[in-house]
Amino acid sequence: MAFSIQVENQTFQANRVFCIGRNYHKHVKELGNTIPDEPVVFMKPASCLVEPEKLLRHPPYGQNLQHEAEVVVLIGQRAEHIMEARARDCIAGLSLGLDLTLRDIQKNLKEKGLPWEKAKCFEQSAPLGNFTMLNDSINLDSISFECRVGPTLRQEGNTRHLIFPIPALIRFLSKHWILVPGDLIFTGTPEGVGPLLPGDEIILGSPQLGKFSWTMVG
Ligand code: ZN
Repeated sequence: MAFSIQVENQTFQANRVFCIGRNYHKHVKELGNTIPDEPVVFMKPASCLVEPEKLLRHPPYGQNLQHEAEVVVLIGQRAEHIMEARARDCIAGLSLGLDLTLRDIQKNLKEKGLPWEKAKCFEQSAPLGNFTMLNDSINLDSISFECRVGPTLRQEGNTRHLIFPIPALIRFLSKHWILVPGDLIFTGTPEGVGPLLPGDEIILGSPQLGKFSWTMVG
């Protein structure tokens, strides 16, 4: 089933979900990875997306389901070989999302050099908030956001700390793929990733982008 995204009076059908790994220094360190010299890209199918306020079911496997709070970019126009100075024109809107990850499965797959789909692309692995249209008041390099689990603050981030900022990601992605309206970019997570348990309420918030929540069931 198609996933519709509303931005003001425009409707988009979610297309590809590009995810960027290792894009905040302190998160790279907390997982014991090395700083990449170009963006680390993987994709989730749009069928992984979940709108706000929904219940999230733990996948039927894995022992350590973790939240990764991220700023998400919605592409609004066809974009091929876009320079950073023009990247902003390609963006229809911004939101927050969760790149849910089965950390134990990911560790195992990484050690074996195998693809990450079982760790990253399970059902409901990409909860996604509602979108704010990109307007002049939003500075792409200064979006602050946080992730709470129940009352506990788990992650605090700001896009000023991105290793590859949003315009650089659009330049890089549009060099390798032809971006089209409905493509999404999960821009990477800051430090503080941690486990989710049944009953947990996960709340993503940003003064610029709004507040969205989901609840874990068994
Ligand atoms: Zn991530």
